[in-house]
Amino acid sequence: MSTFEKCPVCKEYDFLDDHKCLPIYEVDMYEEDDWMEVHAYDHKGAVEKACQKYDNMGDYDIITDGGKDSVCVRKQGEKIIKTFYVEAYSEPTYNACEVENEKEENEELDF
Ligand SMILES: [Zn+2]
Repeated sequence: MSTFEKCPVCKEYDFLDDHKCLPIYEVDMYEEDDWMEVHAYDHKGAVEKACQKYDNMGDYDIITDGGKDSVCVRKQGEKIIKTFYVEAYSEPTYNACEVENEKEENEELDF
């Protein structure tokens, strides 16, 4: 029986018995040669994951600004550097809380 757990290396949840970590990509959020390592399928996925991590650690300034220009990414061990523009937005979340004024259907509601 395979167990669904968090991988200690890449921090992704998966069935660890036959889990293989995704390749490592290095993302430079501000072209400052300060590369953040993320496990991803490709360059695009790596940028999106790095931006999500970055915003979660700070003031959500990528979402606040609506996106970000010039995020650089390279696959670890490769020399080709790709640049991405990132769009970011928040989605509204609705949460309903019951108000305690339960009425029968034929009663008049008193608001
Ligand atoms: Zn892993």
